[in-house]
Amino acid sequence: MPNRPPSHNANRRRQPKARGALATSRWTRFSARVRRRYPLCMAPFHRGPQVPATAVHHILPRATHPHLTFSEPNCCPVCAQCHGLVEGAERAGEVTAGWFDGWM
Ligand SMILES: [Zn+2]
Repeated sequence: MPNRPPSHNANRRRQPKARGALATSRWTRFSARVRRRYPLCMAPFHRGPQVPATAVHHILPRATHPHLTFSEPNCCPVCAQCHGLVEGAERAGEVTAGWFDGWM
């Protein structure tokens, strides 16, 4: 009987680990509190009519600034469209912190 490739389990572990602090109830509560205070998308680059914030974006990424995960000034409530835009730019290697200048 062939053995399972060793990469199988390693790949499965990556996803929950990447979410890290965001998979905790502390984050769920924190994120909900931020969006109660700012129910609408606060992204300065948001276009169109105001819409509810559905996510909280880390302006300085958690990968490089994990200590700011629960820092309110570093957390901007955003709509799904803005979140997709900024996350896509970050994945492409763009530094997006400046997109949020003056949001708070
Ligand atoms: Zn938006």
